Amino acid sequence: MAADRFSAALEVRVLWAHLRIAAIVDPENVVDSREFDQALSAATQLGRTAYPDSKPPLMIADVSQLVQWFQEGIADAAIDHEIAHCLWCQDDTGNPCPQQG
Ligand SMILES: [Zn+2]
Repeated sequence: MAADRFSAALEVRVLWAHLRIAAIVDPENVVDSREFDQALSAATQLGRTAYPDSKPPLMIADVSQLVQWFQEGIADAAIDHEIAHCLWCQDDTGNPCPQQG
């Protein structure tokens, strides 16, 4: 498991490097780039799988944007956890209650 987490954090760091290069090549469109989507998606997924451990992996800890995306993944997983354990959300309508909705 620890090796999987290391690999996932390494992948995020590599995607970040690709994003930085994309930002040099085409700074105007970097936010709309495939590299941006990939780095954002991988970093939030890293947070989702780390939940409830909210400490960012050392591999990304020095990049504030990656830490922010990681924490967004943690927050997403926390909401999923709340919904999964909320009696009112689990009323078979498929909709979250006002508290989580
Ligand atoms: Zn609820």
